[in-house]
This record gives sequence, C-alpha cells and structure tokens, in this order.
Amino acid sequence: MKSDEIVARKLTVNGIVQGVGFRPHIYQLAHSHQVMGEIANTSSGVFIHVEGSPKNIDRFCRSLPSGLPPLAQITDIVETQDTVRGLDDFSILPSTAGLMRSTLISPDVSVCDDCLKELFDPADRRFRYPFINCTNCGPRYTIIDDIPYDRCNTSMKNFIMCGPCQSEYDDPRNRRFHAQPNACSACGPRVALHGPDGGLISCENPIEQAARYLKQGKILAIKGLGGFHLSVDALNTPAVERLRRRKHREEKPLAVMSMNLETILDFARIASEEKALLTSFRCPIVLLNKKKPFLLSDAVSPRNVTIGVMLPYTPLHYLLLNQGFTALVMTSGNMSEEPIAIDNDDAFARLSGMADYFLVHDRRIYLRSDDSLVRHVADSDRLIRRSRGVVPVPVFLRRPLPPVLACGAELKNTVCLTSGNRAFLSQHIGDLENSATYDFFCMTIEHIKRILDITPQVLACDMHPDYLSTRYALEQQLSGINLVQVQHHHAHIVSCMAENRIDGKLIGIAFDGTGYGADGTLWGGEFLIADETSFGRAAHLAYIPMPGGAAAIREPWRMAASYLFMVFGEKMLDIDLPMFRKIDAKKLIFVQDMIVKGVNCPRTSSMGRLCDAVAAMIGIRYTVAYEGQAALELEMMADDGESGSYPFEWVSEDGYQILPHQIIQGVVCDIEKHVSPAVISARFHQTIIRMATALCRVIRQDSSLNRVALSGGVFQNAILLKGLIRELSADRFEVFSHSLVPTNDGGISLGQAVCAAYEL
Ligand code: ZN
Ligand code: ZN
Ligand code: FE
Repeated sequence: MKSDEIVARKLTVNGIVQGVGFRPHIYQLAHSHQVMGEIANTSSGVFIHVEGSPKNIDRFCRSLPSGLPPLAQITDIVETQDTVRGLDDFSILPSTAGLMRSTLISPDVSVCDDCLKELFDPADRRFRYPFINCTNCGPRYTIIDDIPYDRCNTSMKNFIMCGPCQSEYDDPRNRRFHAQPNACSACGPRVALHGPDGGLISCENPIEQAARYLKQGKILAIKGLGGFHLSVDALNTPAVERLRRRKHREEKPLAVMSMNLETILDFARIASEEKALLTSFRCPIVLLNKKKPFLLSDAVSPRNVTIGVMLPYTPLHYLLLNQGFTALVMTSGNMSEEPIAIDNDDAFARLSGMADYFLVHDRRIYLRSDDSLVRHVADSDRLIRRSRGVVPVPVFLRRPLPPVLACGAELKNTVCLTSGNRAFLSQHIGDLENSATYDFFCMTIEHIKRILDITPQVLACDMHPDYLSTRYALEQQLSGINLVQVQHHHAHIVSCMAENRIDGKLIGIAFDGTGYGADGTLWGGEFLIADETSFGRAAHLAYIPMPGGAAAIREPWRMAASYLFMVFGEKMLDIDLPMFRKIDAKKLIFVQDMIVKGVNCPRTSSMGRLCDAVAAMIGIRYTVAYEGQAALELEMMADDGESGSYPFEWVSEDGYQILPHQIIQGVVCDIEKHVSPAVISARFHQTIIRMATALCRVIRQDSSLNRVALSGGVFQNAILLKGLIRELSADRFEVFSHSLVPTNDGGISLGQAVCAAYEL
C-alpha cells in the first residue's frame, strides 16, 4: 500500500471494556477489516490506534459499537485524526499497572453456552470440570482484591496455569485470552465434601455424593459464586421445614434453582419478559407466578402467589442439578439477617448447626454478593435486590458529580460511591443492626473504594440519629470530610430521578415503611415537591401513634388498634372484628391506654403501617415474621376482578393532610357485612391509587408540575405500582419509577449521594 492512501484514527472508548474480551474482539475486528494499529488500556479508557485505507477505517469504526462481547458496554467513543505510523500488524499492548484504574470492572457472569457445551462434552479436556469459564463468563467482582484486573489481583493468584491453559490465555484468537479465572482440572480449583463437623469426606465424586445426600433429604451448604447457599430438595417438605427451623426463617419465601425453563414450567408461569430475565447472563432470582396445583413443597413459599426462581449460574450448579432434581431450594447460607458465609472455615463454624454436609471449593471469594432479585411489573424489570450479576455496573448519571460516599439506610443497606457521571451502588449488604453485617458494611466500603480507586470528598447519610450507617458517617466526619445528612424520603425520590436521568422540580410520591422525618416523626406517606437540592412537603398521611414503637411494626394489630381508635375512639371495642377475638382483651386495653396517654407512641405518617393496619383488621396477619409480610400478604390476596374503592378526604393543613377516617370506616363496614378479605383488599388498594392520583391533580394545579416520581418500599407492591402508573399516565402525568435501582431502602444511597453532591 502506498502511504498516501493510508489514514490513521485514534479512538478512546469508555464503559465496561476490561476483562470482558473487548481487546480480542477489537483485534479480530481489525483483522477482518484489514486495518493495522494497536489497542491499549489507559487511564482515560481503552485507546485504539488504527491505520489503513479510508474505506476500511470507516468500516472498522462503524462496526465497532455493534456485535460486542456480551459483557462489554460502551458508554462513549471519542474519535480523532491521528498520524500514520506505517504499522504492518494490529497488536494488543500489554497493560500497565496503575494506568487502567478507571476502567470499569465486570460483574460476575453466569456460565456461557460455549463453556456449557464443553462441560458436558466427554471429549473435551474440561469435561465435568466445575470451574470452567472463559472471557465471556465466570467470576469477576467477587474474586477481585485490587486493580488492575489481572490474575495476580484475584483469588486465582494461587493457581498456576498448566501449559494448555497458559497457551489459551496468551492467544488473542482464543475464547480464553486473558480470562483471569481460566483453569482446568489439572491446575485449577477443586471441590470437596465435608461433614457437619468440617471433617473431609473422601469420595470419588463430591458433587454426585452431595446430590445423593440431597435426595435423602439432607441439608447441604454449597459454596457458590458470591457466598454459600443452604440447599434442600424443594419437593421434600420435611427437609424444607427442617431448614426453616434451623435457619430461624419461619415464613419468608425461599428461592429455588431449576435446571432449565422446561422444568420451571412444571411449577410456575413464565412470561416472555421473565424468560429474558431468567436466561440473562446476570441470572437473578425472578419472582414468577406459581402454577396451581403447586408441584413443589408448599413450605417453600407459603401464603404467596409467587415463587423466586433462578437458573443455575455456575458449572458446579449445572453438574449438581444434572443429577435429577426438579428444583433445589437455594437460600443464602446464613442465620437469618447475618451476612452469608463466604469462607470455608467461616461456613463450618457458622453453618454447622444448619447444614448436614458442606460442598466447598478452594477458590476464595473476596467479596460476598447475594443473589439479585427481580420482578417484572408494569412493563419493566424491577430490581428488588441489586447484587450478584449486576454489581459493580454503575448507574450512569445525567451530570458528573464530585466523589461522594453515601452510607445508605439501616435495613437492606447498600452504599454508593460516585465518580464523574457514574454512581456505583454496592451489592446488597443487609440489615446493619446485626453486628456481623455492620462489619461487612465497613469492609465493603474499604474494598470498593480500593477497586474503584475513588477517594470520597463528601459523605452522605440519613438523618436518623440511630442508624448505624449515620453513626459511621458521623465518625468519618471527625477526620475532616464534609457530611451531608439527607432526609430519607427526599433520598428515595432523588434516587428515582437519578436512575431516570432527570433533574429539576417534580412531584415525588414516597410510600414507605418508615423514615426519619425532618420534624423528628416517622414519615412514609409523603407527597414531596422536590429536586436534588431541596424538598417541600405538599401532602402526607395524617400522623398516627405507633403503640410500642418498633413493636407496632412486628405486630400489625397494634397499628389496626391505633387506626380504629383514631376513627372510632373508645367505641372501637364494640365493633365486631375478627381481630378482637384473636387478640387478648387485656393487651388491647393496654395499647388503647398507651395511645390515650401518649406513652411510647412515636407518631408516623407511614403508608406501610396503614397497609399493615388494614391487613390486621381483615384478619390476614396480626404479627409478622419478617418486614413487610402483612402488606405483602394483603397484596397477594387481592381479588383482581374487583374494582370498587372507599371514599377518601384530605384537609389543608401542613400542606394537605390525608385523613384515613373514611377509608377505615369503609373497611370496617365491609367486614361487618362479611365482604370477603380478597374484595376488601382490592378495594383498599384501589382507594390508595385513586386518592394519590386525585392528590397529584390538586398538587399539579397548585404547582404547575406535571412529572411524578414514585419511590419507597411500598412500591414493591405490584398493584399499587401498576395502578398508579396507569392512572397517572391516563391523566397525562409523566411518571417515573425504579427499575435498575431498588425502590426499597436498597436504593437510598444513590439518592443520598446525588443530594450531597448538589448541596456542595
Ligand atoms: Zn464461557
Ligand atoms: Zn489448566
Ligand atoms: Fe425507606
């Protein structure tokens, strides 16, 4: 080629382009378009220099964004002219430590089809090797200890690759080029089976032996990608019940894993969107509607119309399920509320009272990551728990922000670090009141600061003085970093705005359990007028006493009593309610007394507590075994053919104050008329939807705002979320809700980070 026919171009590519097979992809693309050049990781992204004929260069540049490896995600490409160097090859330059710190790290990825084929191919050298992986699949986030993402900085550092593995690793045309966890049975991690006391059980094939134990009804602790699972055969009711007793998880639904979609169809319905979720490389737990009669044990997900299901995501899971199970319960390997075990010795110690046997391996997990949980509602996938397979993919923000560390809420905690236009939400950390979880919280902050190479300049936290995340932030503040405390529901709404990449004032509906209000009461039924810098309270549910404080969350009948007392006074005990026959009269009088005297009765405007109260009044739940259970069961039982509702009202006082009287009277009147709980539940849900829509209309008239953001834990309720989106949209509101970020307190840290950044 004559040099005057040659042009050169420089491309800087940003996004998830490291450890995802991006460079070999470009290498092959360059060859197929006959362009010369080189590719390298730099501190400002992946840098590509290409030279060749103008036509070939154009073709190369045009095809670059398409046909990417499954994990790669390009956020931007900057193209500039470059000088021709007369190169005669395309090469991948070695990565320089320290230079590639800003490149994004991939999440853990479920085993790909190519690897699966090899796994079950007797002729393949990795036949039945439980740790098979390639550039397109395998562990990432959970095995990284430091950056750059090279084998020496992962938990694979102790496994020296054998000759065949090394040559795959070195060959840019190979699917395993620079696949850091690359391994085989000759050189890589191995599985082992241990007994209840941690002693090694010698056997020919630990996975087959584990399967035999599962079939006998034993409880297995199984080391996975982001931590241990506790597993039993999901058809075996005594085994499931034994697991529940040992794990102290009496009623909360358990997730299951099945070999393939056909097997899942034996016990659950799968819509096309749910199929896409199940089979995505993230491989989350998807909430599916059960089929009736339900094939699995009823103890798996009692009193629930849905069941959490996932497909296998590691080769080990495939080998295990291939032993012939309809479904295995796969619940997190912990005592309820503790963080999941990730270390073999830790598992032997902490799970010894729960598991009969341990199926472990010797590839260490550096950072635990629970299974992600998602539900498809109102035409969108809604992440309820954002963890394995998703983290650390950032939420891309509308504007760049200074580096902020947001410490999140108390329950379902996550933390958030920002850098430029990226907000990195951590994996699900859990409920901080548990001391082991708090340690995990502190450790996660240090770990993600390191692997993302972010030094926060600002701290953000909740306003609740007793949240451990708030106390942590206050302690860090002592070292001189600015701290911004963000009101809980303001953070919820801004979180929703951030993930939808919108800004400016709008109406925010925060329906929630409880959050610390700006006036020191517990908020949670809030209509805010908010932007990133401030908020006003346009309307809220009228305050009501929570007799006993936290006890009223565990015992929804207390909230029912409080609402009944508010509406009927002392005459409430004359009403013929099933609840009054179930709750000890002395207790009722005692609670009534607390309310009258105002003793240990914090006031709340929480929508979650109103749902709890109605659930108790109609006899669904007087006490709960886990947070949100009463409201969830109220949702599950609603009759979807019923469209009636109750009257509602509000008064102009402190903005608009929503009075619950007519709603409670309507519910009580229906109970007295023996209307079925399913119909009452449906009418109650319709009432909330109509009331909120009507209020938004009034607020729109007052404020000329036409956009509404929905956030808060109550929007996990599919009826309310679907209904409000439908009604508000029909009224020509522009409605925003959560999808990538949890609507519950798992999304709070994102809102905190954005608010704090704007405050500065
Ligand atoms: Zn693969
Ligand atoms: Zn090998
Ligand atoms: Fe909340």
